[in-house]
Amino acid sequence: MKELTNKSIYKNIKKKRITGTVISFLLVTAIASFAFYFTVRFFVSYMLESKFKQEYEIAEYLERVYEKSDKSGKDDIYTVMKEVGRDFMVLDKNGKVIYKYGKEADLSNPKKLELGSDEKEIIVYENAEKGIVYIDKDGDLRMNLKKIMKRLYDEEALDDYSDEEYMEKMNSEGIELETMDVALKDDTIMIPLWISVPVNKDNETLIVRAFLKINENDLILFVVILAALAIVMLTLIIMIFVRTVLNIRRQRRVTNYFFTDVVTKGKNWMWFTIRGEQMLMKRGNAKNRFGLVSLAFINYRNYCLCHSVQDGEEMLRKVHDLIVKDIKKNEMLVHNSSANFAMILLCDSEEELKMRLYEIIRKLERIDAGHRFAFQAGVSVIDTEKNDNDKIIKRKNIDIENEYNNACSARETLSSSDDSGVAFFDDKLVEEEKWRDSVKELQEKALKNEEFQVYYQPKYDPRTDELRGAEALIRWQSPELGFVSPGRFIPIFEKNGFITNIDHYMIKHVAIDQKRWLDEGYKCVPVSVNVSRAHFVEEDLAEQIRDMVDEAGAPHKYIEIELTESAFFDDKNAMVTTINKLKSYGFAVSMDDFGSGYSSLNSLKDMPLDVLKLDAEFFRGDSQDGRGEIVVSEAIKLAKNLKMRTVAEGVEVREQVDFLAGEGCDMIQGYYYAKPMPAEDYKDRMKMHVYTPEVSDAAEVTSEAASAAVSSHIAEVTSEAENENTDNRRNVFPG
Ligand code: C2E
Ligand code: CA
Ligand code: CA
Repeated sequence: MKELTNKSIYKNIKKKRITGTVISFLLVTAIASFAFYFTVRFFVSYMLESKFKQEYEIAEYLERVYEKSDKSGKDDIYTVMKEVGRDFMVLDKNGKVIYKYGKEADLSNPKKLELGSDEKEIIVYENAEKGIVYIDKDGDLRMNLKKIMKRLYDEEALDDYSDEEYMEKMNSEGIELETMDVALKDDTIMIPLWISVPVNKDNETLIVRAFLKINENDLILFVVILAALAIVMLTLIIMIFVRTVLNIRRQRRVTNYFFTDVVTKGKNWMWFTIRGEQMLMKRGNAKNRFGLVSLAFINYRNYCLCHSVQDGEEMLRKVHDLIVKDIKKNEMLVHNSSANFAMILLCDSEEELKMRLYEIIRKLERIDAGHRFAFQAGVSVIDTEKNDNDKIIKRKNIDIENEYNNACSARETLSSSDDSGVAFFDDKLVEEEKWRDSVKELQEKALKNEEFQVYYQPKYDPRTDELRGAEALIRWQSPELGFVSPGRFIPIFEKNGFITNIDHYMIKHVAIDQKRWLDEGYKCVPVSVNVSRAHFVEEDLAEQIRDMVDEAGAPHKYIEIELTESAFFDDKNAMVTTINKLKSYGFAVSMDDFGSGYSSLNSLKDMPLDVLKLDAEFFRGDSQDGRGEIVVSEAIKLAKNLKMRTVAEGVEVREQVDFLAGEGCDMIQGYYYAKPMPAEDYKDRMKMHVYTPEVSDAAEVTSEAASAAVSSHIAEVTSEAENENTDNRRNVFPG
């Protein structure tokens, strides 16, 4: 079945409206033409019936009289016939004139007439010589005669002639006036003609002179009928015209409505897909390369949170209006959804388009002096199409939505950062998209079949080398995809929303493990679990966590919640509420990845956190002159002043451990001590050197053997480093 897209709905509506107008126009035109044709036909046949019949009867009468004659007595009959007062001719069967009276008919141009009611076909001859003479009852005859005479004699002063004098004059000039006395009697148009009547006997023909008399009333009737018809037709045509104009106007309105974006008042996505395709398919545009661009306003959500949705939309309008100024002929821009814009831009080369987009972005970043905005653009290049002879041909089968999707995929490669940027779509992205799809397809089943495993990465006290905590990190052992590290699927889950299920899964499993280990007599330490920012929109997040942990039966102090720094940008108040609730339930809360993104000093001020996790970047960057050490040292001091414990992540070498120990860092989570490990291995770690606040507990759990084991491990890893002179402020971070 054909999919009902916006595009097809729009096309349907358009088609229906046009078809309706065309059909009604054709219908009305057909009806009007029929009405006109039949009215004229009816009138003409009425005229012929009523006017011609009379004359035909005279001719028939003469024929009947003629029939009565025999050869010998013909002259008498002719005398009788002459008394009727009509000119006539008798033709024999070969068409030869055997008798004539009065004027002679011109038989060269016979016409056939049909008398409708009698279904009779009559042959007539027009009197070409005389034509039509109009005679008016109140002496207008004089005028007409005068005209004729003027034409004949070119004389000006004939006004003094009486009617009789005119006639005399004309008679003397050989102008026949024998019809005039008939005509003089009323206001009539005389159409003189000859009627031919077959004579039954001897195949002769009688031709009789006739006058078709049409008087003023007939003419008036004819004109009235024609006028009425014309009015009806005109009204219909006007109606259709008005209807069509209204239709076009309505269609324009509907089209505008269909194609207008409610936020920016510019064109919308629907227009973009329909007109964009048409534009790209045009022969003239086939020679150009185009870039289909997906542009995202990165800080839109935060802007709306800080201000209002109305202010946000106002900002979108400004963004739209600013870009529109840069749009050239054959290019397009629309607002798509929430903070996204779509564009079709000419693309001579990718480098040139990239520069242009950066220029646009630079302008957009400064659109509001009070804010630092960022924009990310993804581009899918629509190349020219060529035939086998390498000649550019018209594009076929452009799928704008698909191209836009590709542009979005390109843009999403930038989404790990909050900075502006431009990225182009390439085949690697297709692979990534396929990967995303397979992850999405398998995620539910993986969760159900417990394909996800909890790995534990221990956290050690750098001063005593005691185990003081651990972080739970997910691993996926997929039958279809093999072993998958979290970096390859967590960002996908974060985008598609599945991450909340993962967070639940991890908290539940960690709580169950902790409870079991406690029951088995292990000296447990708090295990932190990552909770993604997507989860923080849920108001009852703290309650959910509490209930899950309670269900497993684990004491709350053994569970810690890690929040990433970026989450602190969303809804700060909701965040503070959730943190306070978690703390009131006895869970420690830590800020993960401190120092990796935007400065979060401000969030430290507002968030009542227990632990600060220094991001691994601190220990990996190319710091010079000991600046990195200064920053770390100050961060630890800051945390201490805020009564927070510190955890350094990603620590790999002994020098860093020593330095951090010297600075008073509470814990180290890094490969120097241990990589994330399966629960079984972690259990062994718990058996070894565990931090125990209460002395009695420590004596119970920490066996001497275990303590010796962990010490020897650490000694092994760090023996090289220990030989070096250790100064707290020396450059211990790789440059
Ligand atoms: P993270 O929360 O910052 O986790 C620390 C990451 O650093 C872990 O990577 C860990 O293996 C790695 N790491 C620790 N010490 C060192 C070191 O000395 N050197 C190096 N090179 N790496 C070290 P992992 O396990 O691959 O996890 C990556 C990220 O995936 C995590 O970063 C976290 O953001 C996410 N993630 C992992 N498990 C979960 C989970 O259960 N839930 C959620 N929401 N996210 C998770
Ligand atoms: Ca973490
Ligand atoms: Ca981290």
